[in-house]
Amino acid sequence: MIFTNKVTGAGDFTSFWETKTDSEILKTNFRNDNPEALPQLLAALPEGAEVPELEFEYDTRQSTVGMVRCRHCKKNAANHNIGFVLRYQDGSRILVGKNCGEKQYGQAFTYRANHFRAAIKRSELLRRKLGLMTVRKELVAALDEIKAYEGWMIYRDSKRSFWQGMHHILDLINTAVLKRDGVLTVESTFRDTEAEALVWTRTRKVSAPIYRTISTNIGVLAGREFFRGGESPERIIPALTQRMINAAFSIDEKDRNYDLEVLFRAMEGIVTEMREQAHRIGVMKEALSEANMITLGRWLKAEQQGNYRVKDGKFYRHDGAGNVVFHRHAVYGTANRQNPVECDLPPPFAPVPDALIEQVANLIRYTVDSADVGGNKSGT
Ligand SMILES: [Zn+2]
Repeated sequence: MIFTNKVTGAGDFTSFWETKTDSEILKTNFRNDNPEALPQLLAALPEGAEVPELEFEYDTRQSTVGMVRCRHCKKNAANHNIGFVLRYQDGSRILVGKNCGEKQYGQAFTYRANHFRAAIKRSELLRRKLGLMTVRKELVAALDEIKAYEGWMIYRDSKRSFWQGMHHILDLINTAVLKRDGVLTVESTFRDTEAEALVWTRTRKVSAPIYRTISTNIGVLAGREFFRGGESPERIIPALTQRMINAAFSIDEKDRNYDLEVLFRAMEGIVTEMREQAHRIGVMKEALSEANMITLGRWLKAEQQGNYRVKDGKFYRHDGAGNVVFHRHAVYGTANRQNPVECDLPPPFAPVPDALIEQVANLIRYTVDSADVGGNKSGT
C-alpha cells in the first residue's frame, strides 16, 4: 500500500512505512512502552549520516519500567518517559526523548515522523473500516428502531393538531417567540389620575388626561422552538437513517484515507442531526405540556382572545360557560361546527430514543481500542 496521501516535502525519501501493505499495517503495533527491552538497542548514537526512522512511540509511565535514557542527550542516566524508538536500516535501534529527534536530525526527522503518523492514521482508518463492517447489522437494527420510534409520529400529529386548531393565534405566538424570546406580556393603557392630581397641586390648573401604558408579564412560553415550526422529525428521520445505511454500505468501496475520513465524518454528522431531531421531541413535549398551555391560556385571556382551558388531553377555547368555541366560517361569519378551537395535547409516550442514538454513535465510533494502535492516548 501505500499511503494514498503521500507525505509532502519528503523529497526522494521513501519511508519503510510506505512499503507496508494494509494487512501489515493492520498487524503493526505503533507503541512499545517498554522500549529498553527491545533487541538490538544501541547504547549511543552510531557514527554515520543515516537518519533512522520512527518505529514505535513510547510513554513509560504507561508501563512500570520507569524512565529511559535518551541517546541524543548522551546522559548516562535515565532521563525521560516519553519518546520514540528509532530504527536503522540494519535493524539496530536507539531511543530518543520526544523532542530530541528534531534537535538531532532536524527536517529529516520531521519527514519520518510524518510517515510514522500517516501509518498510524492508516491503521486507525482500516480498523475503523473493519469495525464498521463488523457492526453493520447491529447498526441497521438500531436505525430501524430509531425510525420506528412512536415519538416522531406523535410529534407530527400534535403539531398538525395545534397548527390546525390554533391557527388564529399562531401570529400572536410567533411575535412573542420571535420578538420577545417567549416572554408573554400584555400591554394595557390606563388613565393616570395621580399624575393629573399632581399637576393640579403644582399649577392649580386642570391637567389634560394623562395615559400610561404598562406591560404586564404573564409568563414565559416554554418549548419555543416548537412554535417556530420547520420540517417535522417524522420526515427528517427516515431520510437520515437511509443516508446512514447508504454510508455504512458504501464503505466497501472506499479505500483512500481521504474517502474514509470523509465518510466517517459524514456519519458523525448524521448522528448529530439525529440528536437534534430527538431534542425536538423533548421541546415539543415541553411546549404542549399542560403547564405551558395553562400559561398560554392565561396570556390569551389577558390579550382578550377568549377563555382557554386544558382538559382531558385537550387545549381548547370555551365561551365561559364551558362550551367549546368553533372557528367562524371565513365568508359567512357563522360558526363552523366542523372546526372547534381546540387541539390535542400529546399522549404519554416512550421517552426520546437517546440511548438508541448513542448506540449508533458508539457503533460508528467503533474502532479497536486505540491503545493497540498507538498514537492516540499518550499525548506525545
Ligand atoms: Zn534527549
